[in-house]
Amino acid sequence: MEEVFGVFGDPVEHSLSPVMHNAAISALGMKARYHAFRVSREGLGDALLGACAMGFGGVNLTIPLKERALELGFLEPDALSRGIGAVNTVDFKDGIRGFNTDGVGALRALEDACGSIRGKRVVLLGAGGAARAIAFQFASVGARVLIVNRTEERGRRLAESVSSVGGAVEAFGFASLGELLDSAHVLVNATSVGMHPLVNRTIVTGDMLHPGLVVFDIVYNPLKTRLLLEAEAAGARIVTGEMMLVYQGAEAFRIWTGVMPPVDVMKRAVLDALGV
Ligand code: NAP
Repeated sequence: MEEVFGVFGDPVEHSLSPVMHNAAISALGMKARYHAFRVSREGLGDALLGACAMGFGGVNLTIPLKERALELGFLEPDALSRGIGAVNTVDFKDGIRGFNTDGVGALRALEDACGSIRGKRVVLLGAGGAARAIAFQFASVGARVLIVNRTEERGRRLAESVSSVGGAVEAFGFASLGELLDSAHVLVNATSVGMHPLVNRTIVTGDMLHPGLVVFDIVYNPLKTRLLLEAEAAGARIVTGEMMLVYQGAEAFRIWTGVMPPVDVMKRAVLDALGV
């Protein structure tokens, strides 16, 4: 029988996960299929219990379900997803267990481009869902994470929660950005600024950047955001957002199947779907 995988969310019809995972499934010759399912916040508990009862191979969770999953008494989150406060991957092999692979995805995408970030000063723009995953993951590998968020209080709360598990993290306001960037090794944009349709927006402009910097924008629509265009012009190295998506999916696939899927095939499927 064909094994079923999927992504639960609402809305979910624009998710790139089905094309990405189905490309990997085909390349590996597996008898399986990955589908998108529209599931509401209220329906998540029933949907997960149903998927478990029907023998699903595993599911991803997206908006608005990642945080909701932690409120379900039967789901066992691992330490990282509990700290982040969000689950994006559920596995059914040994109970119903939750993981968060967004941070690993970002870390692999970045380290592919610039090597280990241990000991590096990383300015992280944002303190929303994606930034939380990145802050926990980057701090866990020994990066020094400097959070800059529009709502400073939210950034401070994130810094406190990562520090409480031993990470080297501090939070700042936008006024400190210039000074922080002067001595930074990496800049990560984990805000939605620059995303379609407001593609002309950027928090950081080229005059604040230097050639030694690696600039990673996790926004992948468009692939080359205004920030990345300005970074390129300033001589900085750039990292586009699609590989974070690919690697978070690849890590979920590995958790479900024990097999590391072909990331080049998944990347091609994502770029085709984006029309790049
Ligand atoms: P989120 O939880 O809604 O957080 C949004 C963040 O953006 C917050 O820090 C918010 O600051 C900031 N922000 C929004 N508008 C702003 C503005 N005009 N000026 C300054 N800051 C602003 O969203 P998310 O889930 O973290 O996603 C953020 C982005 O990452 C989205 O574009 C998403 O598509 C992308 N993403 C990419 C991947 C990938 O795999 N490449 C994965 C996840 C997300 P406040 O706290 O002040 O509101």
